[in-house]
Amino acid sequence: MSDITVGMEIVAIKSHKKNYFKRYDTFPARGVESLCSCPKKWINIGIAQTCNTLKCKKCGTKHRNDTGFMWFSESYFRPIDDIDISDVDSVLQEDFFEFIERT
Ligand SMILES: [Zn+2]
Repeated sequence: MSDITVGMEIVAIKSHKKNYFKRYDTFPARGVESLCSCPKKWINIGIAQTCNTLKCKKCGTKHRNDTGFMWFSESYFRPIDDIDISDVDSVLQEDFFEFIERT
């Protein structure tokens, strides 16, 4: 698993289902947090918040989001320096975070 840290340039390895970003879009990682009990991190890429509660589909944790920004599963992203685009399909993983309530 890649280690994304704050300030790192990252690339989306697949498009978000709700079109918040597209595959190959790049962003600086503005926040990296553990918001549930899973080893995966949640990533803030500077997209304004549209929902106020996050739920992890894997462990069931609900997290109130007061940050003003959206948070996405790190499985969407890789550090740009790490990525081998030809290998993207082999590293795709299910995104299991979702927003369940609207503000
Ligand atoms: Zn979880």
